[in-house]
Amino acid sequence: MSWDFETDPAFQEKLDWADEFVRAEIEPLDLVWPDRVFTPLDDTLRKVVDPLKQEVRRQKLWATHLGPDLGGEGYGQLKLALLNEILGRSMWAPVVFGCQAPDTGNAEIIAHYGTPEQKERYLRPLLDGEIFSCYSMTEPQGGSDPTMFTTRAVKDGDEWVINGWKFFSSNARTSSFLIVMAVTNPDVSAHQGMSMFLVPTDTLGVNIVRNVGLAGEAEDEGSHALIHYEDARVPAEALLGGEGQAFAIAQTRLGGGRIHHAMRTVGHAKKALDMMCERALSRETQGELLAKKQFVQGYIADSYAQLAQFRLFVLYTAWTIDKYNDYRKVRKDIAAVKVLMPGVLHDIAWRALQVHGALGASNEMPFARMMLGASVLGLADGPTEVHKVTVAKQVLRDYRPSDDLWPTEHLPKKRAAARAKYAEFLEHEVGNL
Ligand SMILES: Cc1cc2nc3c(=O)[nH]c(=O)nc-3n(C[C@H](O)[C@H](O)[C@H](O)COP(=O)(O)OP(=O)(O)OC[C@H]3O[C@@H](n4cnc5c(N)ncnc54)[C@H](O)[C@@H]3O)c2cc1C
Repeated sequence: MSWDFETDPAFQEKLDWADEFVRAEIEPLDLVWPDRVFTPLDDTLRKVVDPLKQEVRRQKLWATHLGPDLGGEGYGQLKLALLNEILGRSMWAPVVFGCQAPDTGNAEIIAHYGTPEQKERYLRPLLDGEIFSCYSMTEPQGGSDPTMFTTRAVKDGDEWVINGWKFFSSNARTSSFLIVMAVTNPDVSAHQGMSMFLVPTDTLGVNIVRNVGLAGEAEDEGSHALIHYEDARVPAEALLGGEGQAFAIAQTRLGGGRIHHAMRTVGHAKKALDMMCERALSRETQGELLAKKQFVQGYIADSYAQLAQFRLFVLYTAWTIDKYNDYRKVRKDIAAVKVLMPGVLHDIAWRALQVHGALGASNEMPFARMMLGASVLGLADGPTEVHKVTVAKQVLRDYRPSDDLWPTEHLPKKRAAARAKYAEFLEHEVGNL
């Protein structure tokens, strides 16, 4: 029997190194260049970031989830989960370790569905961390329901011509290419009539109308583009996978993306818990430390337990992905983890904010931003409600209706059956009385 919660010592050494490295070398980048995370490096930043990436490669921790053929270490998802718990502390860390969203998911689908030419042109520089990518799927009139998308791609000779609007296309402004989902055959169901395209961001007709910001960011200075595709022409070879394959490709991409967010969320929430505990041990009121107050103890205990539950679920899900090597077989658990994720980060960040008092609510601490981040996790890659529906549908697949009026576990019915099974002995008991 194999059921082990221990990390193998050799990998634990790597994790210990990563923990120290992220705290000492990478977290400072978050404070000095918070807006440059997804921007191709200029000469100044190259001097800072390239040596850090080289160090990560030397430690054999670059893009660990990818196979050696793609420049990674082939460690799989479970080890990535353990590493991401550390990287989740910092915005820059995933970029320095070659496993940042949305590029990991985008790389995954090009690796899976791309032609050799597409891999050479887009995947190689993406995996080398030289360029960034954007996934352009959501439309202004609807995101949760892809069957409502109307962006069209029409074949014109050797080219496709794309027209339509996309909303919240993250990092479009700094990306080199966009993965665009468009209707290619309106006469069949949406599941069969949509396709994916690899579109260079500087293509004529790709118009970024606004860079929508999240709450607190300046208007039009955010990272989530409203894009008007206006007669944007791409060659026939820009099609990713086969015509009509967009839904299948989206599932491959979003499965990985969701679980990677969850891995990083463990680290992010742990950071909030660490801060809560430090504050509880540092601040006094009414003659004693906050750590002595039962409400605060409750916050700490609830946070610890909530995080431990979530972490184990994330690790288990990563382990099953490695086992089956097929996201579709792990769909239920990926969706369930996605459902839990915003609540875990929100609750722990809120308690940490509360324990820090006014300072916690200020922009001198990261808690309000973490809480907004929690809301984002409940929307990006599909809203919580939709994932709950997925979980419920998948769970129900393992059940059958009762075959009569009463539930299978109805006690009078079961008792009657049990008595019938042991009737011989029960008669004996009665006879002895
Ligand atoms: C920070 C951030 C980054 C993002 N990045 C990208 C990106 O890079 N590329 C991209 O294409 N998209 C991106 N998105 C968009 C994201 O995928 C959508 O926001 C999401 O799919 C929801 O779509 P919507 O916003 O149109 O909400 P709607 O579809 O309008 O849904 C609104 C609400 O209705 C409810 N609802 C919807 N459907 C159901 C249902 N079936 N049952 C019950 N309730 C339901 C939910 O409460 C939901 O939140 C990003 C979003 C955020 C917040």
